[in-house]
Amino acid sequence: MGIDLKTEYKEYHTPYLWLENNHTPFMKPECILPIPSDSDFSIFNLPFGIFSSQKWSPRIGIRLGDFVIHIEELNRAGHLKDVEMKNDGLFLSPTLNPLIEAGPGCWRTLRNRVQLLFSVGSEQITLNENAERFLIPVSEVTMHLPVQIGDYTDFYSSEYHAANVGAMFRDPQNPLLPNWKHIPVGYHGRSSSIVVSGTNFHRPKGQIKPPTAEIPAFSPSKQMDMELETAFVVSRNTQMGSSIGVDEAEDYIFGMMLFNDWSARDLQSWEYVPLGPFLGKNFCSSVSPWIVTMDALKPFRVPMDAEMNPEVLPYLKQKQRWTYDIHLEAELITQKGDKKVISKTNQKYLYWSMNQQLAHHTINGCPMRVGDLLASGTISGPTEDSLGSLLEITKRGQNPIVFPNGEKRNFLEDGDSISIKGFSEKEGIRVGFGEVTGMVLSSL
Ligand code: MN
Repeated sequence: MGIDLKTEYKEYHTPYLWLENNHTPFMKPECILPIPSDSDFSIFNLPFGIFSSQKWSPRIGIRLGDFVIHIEELNRAGHLKDVEMKNDGLFLSPTLNPLIEAGPGCWRTLRNRVQLLFSVGSEQITLNENAERFLIPVSEVTMHLPVQIGDYTDFYSSEYHAANVGAMFRDPQNPLLPNWKHIPVGYHGRSSSIVVSGTNFHRPKGQIKPPTAEIPAFSPSKQMDMELETAFVVSRNTQMGSSIGVDEAEDYIFGMMLFNDWSARDLQSWEYVPLGPFLGKNFCSSVSPWIVTMDALKPFRVPMDAEMNPEVLPYLKQKQRWTYDIHLEAELITQKGDKKVISKTNQKYLYWSMNQQLAHHTINGCPMRVGDLLASGTISGPTEDSLGSLLEITKRGQNPIVFPNGEKRNFLEDGDSISIKGFSEKEGIRVGFGEVTGMVLSSL
């Protein structure tokens, strides 16, 4: 059961751009800038982020090819007259929160308008020497955390991951706990340590207790891991006491990012009983800088891979279980510069959908706020090459990754980096996330 791209673009893009205006049949927009066919940032994507440069303080930009579109300059040039703004300085905000809070009448219209301006057609923008004002090469910008994150929740929504971990730490015959197929299991994380891609961090220290030791020792973590995840940003505030219906949950999601939930496995395994993850998780998590909107991802919607079995309670039952066909991969780059792709997985392997995560999170009346971040949990797939953490890839350090030159890794060493990339592609149309990267530095 696929999605008809033409219908999807008609619904989300073309009424505004191509169909209502001139009644022509569907046409793919053609960008007025040269964009390589393998670019994540095609005219179909147009993700939002916060950039700064030598000249400009942090403010809102939209990525197109190898350029950042400076939205306020586009506005000053008179190109955004039909975009509803609640205040004049909106595009100068150093976070996306005010733009998201202004609602789809603002950000959806803005994105559609930018698509029109940079597509070949009657309303295309003229690229003359003035275009330098609003087109800034990505090489000249610094990217910042795109949203001020209020609360952050991490789920545990991949059955493959939960089963792999359960088999290692508990019972290989019965790896899932009894609640797992009834509840989208999650925990409250900490937003203060979420950083944008490219931010390096020091190896955390804490209590570790090897199985053979009587008592714990204080030490830098010896089992530094990554977790390949995606995350989404909440687009609307909800009232305390209210809840979000499972079939309307997509209206509360602004867009998605890549997410690396760095984890110290030795701290985690000693501390996690009975209340779950704590210091093994909250020292650093990294997000990609561009938020890809759900509008841009809509054409890549696919039915979820997994059947819900057993049946879930009514508040978690979706009419249609949609997910997104997002190819994800993680690469480990050692301090010596050796590189290896260690995982290739996909958003569609999750058991619980984003809708179910939001519905469950709010079913007790917990309010959501614009800018809250909800992460998927490690996304592992069914095969050996689609595991989303080193814990699973190396079987808890028993089975090291071997690099072509002979270097080996059980867990991450100082100076190692992880780069996670992700994209969707269909019928020659590509919408991607770029990457989220970070390096483990020696402990302080
Ligand atoms: Mn996680």
